[in-house]
This record gives sequence, C-alpha cells and structure tokens, in this order.
Amino acid sequence: MPDHQKAARTIPIKPLFERHQKVYPRTVKGLFQRWRWVFAWLTQIVFYGLCWLPWNGRQAVLFDLDARRFYVFDLVLWPQDVIYLAVILVLSALALFLFTTVAGRVWCGYTCPQTVYTEIFLWIEARLEGDRPKRMKLDGASWSARKLRIKTLKHAAWIALSLWTGFTFVGYFTPIHGLAAGVANLSLSGWESFWILFYSALTYGNAGFFREQMCKYVCPYAQFQFVMFDPDTLIVAYDETRGEARGARSKKVVASEHGLGDCVDCGICVQVCPTGIDIRDGLQLECIGCAACIDACDQVMEKMDYPRGLIRYSTENALKQRSTGAEVRRRVLRPRVLVYGAVFFVLLAATAWSLGTRVPLKVDLQRDRASLGREVEDGQIENTFRMRLINASEHPSTYVVEARGLEGIHIAQAPVITLPGASGETVVINVRVPPGAAAPGAHAIRLIVSDSADSAVTVSEKAKFWIP
Ligand code: SF4
Ligand code: SF4
Repeated sequence: MPDHQKAARTIPIKPLFERHQKVYPRTVKGLFQRWRWVFAWLTQIVFYGLCWLPWNGRQAVLFDLDARRFYVFDLVLWPQDVIYLAVILVLSALALFLFTTVAGRVWCGYTCPQTVYTEIFLWIEARLEGDRPKRMKLDGASWSARKLRIKTLKHAAWIALSLWTGFTFVGYFTPIHGLAAGVANLSLSGWESFWILFYSALTYGNAGFFREQMCKYVCPYAQFQFVMFDPDTLIVAYDETRGEARGARSKKVVASEHGLGDCVDCGICVQVCPTGIDIRDGLQLECIGCAACIDACDQVMEKMDYPRGLIRYSTENALKQRSTGAEVRRRVLRPRVLVYGAVFFVLLAATAWSLGTRVPLKVDLQRDRASLGREVEDGQIENTFRMRLINASEHPSTYVVEARGLEGIHIAQAPVITLPGASGETVVINVRVPPGAAAPGAHAIRLIVSDSADSAVTVSEKAKFWIP
C-alpha cells in the first residue's frame, strides 16, 4: 500500500484529552526558509496594504456588507452577482486539488495564515526570549523580574500585532479610513469593536498558543489531504535507503565500514519541526510541508561532507525507484493533474471572460400583479411592469427604455431614468399598444434598456403583453 494511503489509514486515535506538550521549534536558515519568508512578506504586504489602496475615489477592495456591495478594483458586485462568489469558491477548491496533487501541502507550508502568523509570532518570541534552548530554560525557570519583563514584552508585541491584524481584517468590510477615525476618536460602533477584538483574539490565540494544534486537530484540509495525494505527489521525505542505519559518528569515521547510513541521528530535523514530529518515521498527517527539516538536515550533511538531500522534496515512486529529478518532473503531467488543470483553467477563462464582458447594468422586470391588461384612453391596451434598475458602474448614467415585439407598441411616460453611480431604483413602466394591434391573449415582447451614452450597455428583458 502506498505511503500516502498508509498515512491516511493510520490516522492516530487520539484520546479525548491529551496533555499538550509545548513545541519549541529551533530557528533554522536555508533555501526553503527564505522562500517561506518571501511568501510571508508578500501575503502580509498585500493583506495589510491593500485595504489602504485608493481606487476611483474609494477603497480598492471593500466588501461593504452594510451597502450590500463588493468593490474589487473596477468591479462593483451586487447581491445579484452572488454567482461569481460561488465560482470563486469552486475555483479555489479546484486550485487546492491541483496544487495538492502536484506539490502536496505547499499551501500549508508557505501561505496558510495559520502557518504564516505562527511563524511571525515565533520570530518575535525568538527575538525576545532567544532560540529553543533559551526558551525552554526560561519557561522552566521560576518567575523573576527578568522573566516577567521578557514575557510582558512578548505578549505586548503579540497583542499589538493581533490588534493591527483584527483592525485590518475588519477594514475590508467597513471603510478603513472611517474605521481608523473611529479608533482615533474612540467612537467605534459596538459591532466594529466586537469584530476587531474577536479577530485580534483569534490571531493571538491561534498564532501564540494553539499553533500546530490547529493543523493537527482542527483543520479539515489536513485530515482529507491524503485523498488528493498519489505516489507521484511531491512530499517532504526522508530517504530511508540512504539514511539507515542511523547512528552518531565523528566526521572521520567512514560510515559504510561500520554499516551506517548517512543519518547521524543528531535529531535537529525534529528540533526545527513546528509540529514536533520526526520525518524519519515516514509521511504523517502532522507534517505541514514547511521543509524546515530539509534545510536543517542539509546543513548537517554539509558539515559531515555528505551530499545534501537526505531529507528532500521527492515522491513515493521516486524514492522507491531511485528516480532522477528529470523523471520526477516528467511525472508531474499525469492524467489526474491534466484533468484538474483543464477544468481549473477552462473555468478560470470562462469567469475572466464573463467578468470582462459584464454589462454594468442590471434589470429585474416584474409584471404588476394588480392588473393583467386594461383599456385606457383611445382604446389602447396598457400593461404595467415594475422594473428594478441597478447602475453597477461608478458614474451616473441615463437609461432609455423602449418596448418591441408588437405593432405600435410604446411606453406611455417619458422612459428616461438617470441613476447615480452604484445605485438602484424601481420604476413603473406602462406599456401600451393601439387598438387591434394583436389578437386577445399573451404576446411575447421585449423591454430594452440602454445607456444613452454607451449603446454597448444594453439589457433586453423578455415579457408577456396581455390583451384582454
Ligand atoms: S537532521 Fe538529518 S542527520 Fe540529523 S537526525 Fe535528522 S535526518 Fe538524521
Ligand atoms: S516534518 Fe519537516 S516538513 Fe513536516 S512539518 Fe516537520 S519540519 Fe516541516
């Protein structure tokens, strides 16, 4: 049975209550840690900065729940556009399937907010308390003025960062300049204060205390990721064939003469692991794919003058078949990946096309239920409709309404409606036909709404015209 299936089937049975052993990850440097920090910077610059970016005289990205409007750069989305939200969720799920099948838990290791914030909080902790041995010593020591000072500083820094994070998060749902003014004047509404404190407490608790337990016990993705794995999925793996039999030795000892593999059993790969596992035990649910153990082991290998890569990104098949890097890369384009990729990119292209060609005008037409059709002056027949118009652009627009489909059909009142940008209005439309224009019964007609300044902005709605 492949290792990824074994890992899925050997989900450890955990007691309902398990005493938590605090993990003290040792600081590690190396290629993959640099990449992790690149992603941490990129994601955090976008998160903390985007909400301050001005665009068309308002916030570039704002999910204004009060006004029921989402602004994403030039896009203004209304509740009627909820389909795009559904499509974005489907695209995210497909992207997760695709990237997990190809590269395992890259999301968890490099960009998941839980991982990124834990990394940032750990960085603050290491700056103030020192690396792993010092942190363990400090926690084990009895309370003193020094310990109190260090712990107070650490928690103050964590709380400040958490509050900033909570404030920023809420700033995507309510205009951030108003929110900042509310904080400065102490005039935030009760809900604004509640959500800022709520998200701050979540950040503080998750990144400061809960940490790897979120990945081990709570995150559903961690529990079902193996379903998306196959023997060609990239994983962080220990090369058992090369590493065993493990054992301590001096640099001068020739390992093969003593029946030893390349693992010097230093335990550093375990000490740097943020979830506290030993990758030498094989693929495990707890492994978030952060590659800290790769960087750590590579440094040990260099010191021993052994080739790097005893722990490396590889695949189950590659490890068993001793495949080269080129062979591993060739296996990336396998049927499962091609299917996920094709569905993802077709849906992505269709969504982009739909958004690109979207008309910034929404029309919702309803017949006036009070009367189907009635005779008015000069024997004309009149049907009444209620038309909800939404100007989904950000500038004022004037719309002209016309009716088509029957001989002499026209609209009774002046059918010109002006709407400010990003606004909506319901108007009553009285449609008339001359006497004898058609036989009694229901007739298909169209009501056409066009922007008087831009004929490309036109919406045509079907309706039934009733002649008694
Ligand atoms: S860091 Fe490398 S050499 Fe040290 S115990 Fe881990 S696998 Fe073995
Ligand atoms: S085993 Fe290695 S890759 Fe997995 S979580 Fe631990 S350090 Fe990260």
